[in-house]
Amino acid sequence: MKDSNFLKENNARQMWHPMTSPQDSAENPPKIITGASGVNITDIDGHTVVDGVGGLWNVNLGYSCQPIKDAMATQLDTLPYYSTFRGTTNDVAIELAYELGEFFAPDGLSRAFFTSGGSDSVETALRLARQYHKLRGEQGRTKFLSLKKGYHGTHMGGASVNGNANFRTAYEPLLPGCFHIPAPYTYRNPFNEADPEKLAQLCVQALEDEIAFQGANTIAAMIMEPILGAGGVIPPHKSFAPMVQEICNRNGILLITDEVITAYGRTGAWSGARLWGIKPDMMATAKAITNGYFPFGAVMLGDRMVEAFEGNPNAKIGHGYTYSGHPVGAAAALACLSETKRLNVIENAAARGTQLYEGCLALQKKYDIIGDVRGGHGLMTAIEMVSDRATKKPVDAVRAQIVQDTAYDNGAMVRVSGPNLILSPSLVLTEADAQTLLDGIEAGFKVA
Ligand code: PMP
Repeated sequence: MKDSNFLKENNARQMWHPMTSPQDSAENPPKIITGASGVNITDIDGHTVVDGVGGLWNVNLGYSCQPIKDAMATQLDTLPYYSTFRGTTNDVAIELAYELGEFFAPDGLSRAFFTSGGSDSVETALRLARQYHKLRGEQGRTKFLSLKKGYHGTHMGGASVNGNANFRTAYEPLLPGCFHIPAPYTYRNPFNEADPEKLAQLCVQALEDEIAFQGANTIAAMIMEPILGAGGVIPPHKSFAPMVQEICNRNGILLITDEVITAYGRTGAWSGARLWGIKPDMMATAKAITNGYFPFGAVMLGDRMVEAFEGNPNAKIGHGYTYSGHPVGAAAALACLSETKRLNVIENAAARGTQLYEGCLALQKKYDIIGDVRGGHGLMTAIEMVSDRATKKPVDAVRAQIVQDTAYDNGAMVRVSGPNLILSPSLVLTEADAQTLLDGIEAGFKVA
């Protein structure tokens, strides 16, 4: 490894970073992480903290998962790569598809299409949704519906269904025919409705209205996160997803759950679909599928997709990635799935999630900077910071940065995205680790 002076000098010079500007990277050089163990990360200066971000919502089993490391090393020795494009496949990809089919059977999903990550999985689901309708002779069903505040990755299709302006505006024009429904975001919504259940009804009414306005027979699919993640952890009322499912079914619209964050246990359930008791037609997954150890994803497919595509000579899938079903990624995913089940991570995710959520609610009583606390479903928690509780004016970036930096100096890596402080640690977090995160955040609020 180059010495630390070299790395610090070149930190923000040669590499453009996602989700920030080159100027911001130069002025606030990113922390250089050089090591990790358990749920902790260590930076170039030897400072070790609890990773409250869990990598990027993906390192669900922590950084020291030996079975995954072993499986990857063995796979590199046996078969480091072979493609799954027409005519070939590899043994581990077959086994993984089988295991995922079992794992997602309760969600009504039996088949897998492999990708290289979350944005790829979203793109795959959107494209297969259009193809599904074409195969069934409904050529006109091409539009997509999604939620405002939703995040669906950064490919052109995903960006088009994204519901946050900062991932869209600079890249317009995006895909035509994408329409956005108000999110069930209780703290701020166009209806000024503070009751989550009533708000869920208003949002589904808006969905019904949009379908009627566009014409159901022009719409291919609705895509949504079961709990909105990057948009600031927005859990809808439990009635919301089942109502969306019913509306989609009634109108012949496919339902895609974007579970790049919520699949594999993060919400305290094995999937977001299971959390809300719905059965999507497709589920986009990635991130925790390999515990972040390999870029990999899987789109899971339900009965309607199976019926339309299988046994149909016209159903050629003109889509796929060089790394679809990559054997090292598949080996990582197989070991990860087995560990995820063995550790029964949903139990700890639920318990530690409650601890963090309640801890943040307690902080809200003490610090005016906390406008809203959202969570309560596993290890997805957000604090929305405001400069004035009465007007809900979002906190300014400088204060938010002070919270993040002070938390870090006090042993807690947290993510600040706009006014939101987001906690998405590994699902193997201990009670003491969770307390370290809460103490670190509190240190930040004291000085901000
Ligand atoms: N969908 C959701 C819900 C996500 O949270 C993300 C990533 N945060 C993506 C898609 C995109 O995944 P990736 O960054 O792996 O392309």
